[in-house]
Amino acid sequence: MQQIPLHLIDSHFHLLAMQKKGVDITALLNEMQDLSMQALDIGTDFDDLAKRSALLSEYPSIHMSAGIGPWGVASGQIPVKQQLEGLCASLDQSKVCAIGEIGLDNHWDYGTKQSQSDLFVSQMDIASQRNLPIIIHSRESDDEISALLQGRTFSRRGIMHCFQGSKELALLAVSKGMFISFAGPITYKANIEMRDIFRAIPLDHILLETDSPYLSPVPCRGRANTPLHMVHIYEYAASLLGMDLEDLIAQIQSNFCAFLS
Ligand SMILES: [Zn+2]
Repeated sequence: MQQIPLHLIDSHFHLLAMQKKGVDITALLNEMQDLSMQALDIGTDFDDLAKRSALLSEYPSIHMSAGIGPWGVASGQIPVKQQLEGLCASLDQSKVCAIGEIGLDNHWDYGTKQSQSDLFVSQMDIASQRNLPIIIHSRESDDEISALLQGRTFSRRGIMHCFQGSKELALLAVSKGMFISFAGPITYKANIEMRDIFRAIPLDHILLETDSPYLSPVPCRGRANTPLHMVHIYEYAASLLGMDLEDLIAQIQSNFCAFLS
C-alpha cells in the first residue's frame, strides 16, 4: 500500500550509527524523500561530517549538524584541542545548521566532569562565533547543565534533545528560547513524569525525534529505530495533547522552520 506523505520531521537521527546496525540507508533515505520527510542528521565526533555530507549530498531535506559529544573526553581519545581543530576545519568545508550534539553525561564515565564541561563550553563558543544553534545532550546532569545555561544568552534557538530531565531544566531551556525535543521514551509506560513535562512545554517550543537507531518507540521496541518510526511518536504526542495529528504536524513544521532560521 502506498503511504501518504505526512511531511513529518525527525529532528534527531544518526545516519552512520544506523548504517553500522545494518540499516540499508540508501533505501531509507529514498523512502524518507518519497514521504516528503525532513530530518536532521546529528554529528557525534570531530571527524564524521565529511563522510555524512557525502552520503547526504543528494538529499536536500536532510540537514546536518556537527559536534563532539561528551564521549570526546573518554580515555583513549585524541587530545581535545586536536578534536576541536578538526571539527572547525570540517565546519569550513560542509554546511551545517547546528553544533551538536554536545553536552554532559553523568550516566557513563566519560573523562572528568570538568573535562566534559570544558568541551561543552568550547563548542557553545564555536556555535556563537558562527551564529549557529546548539543541540544539547544531557544525561543525568540537570544541575550542571542548568548552571551552564543560566549564565549564557543565545542568539539562535537551540534544542534540548531526547529530553529526560526535570521540569525545572525544561522551563529554564524554554526561557533561553530553546526547543525541547521528545523521542521514543515518551511512549514508554513508566515515563509518567516525562509526559507531564511534555504537556507543560509551550507548543511553540516542542520538537519530536527518533534518535535512531536508538530508543525505538512503542510499538517498534526491540528493533533498530529509523526515522520512519516518527509516525508513532507523532500519533502518541498528538493524543497526549488532545490535538489533531494534522495540527501537530503543522506546529512542528513551524517550530523546525524557526529552529533553522
Ligand atoms: Zn543522538
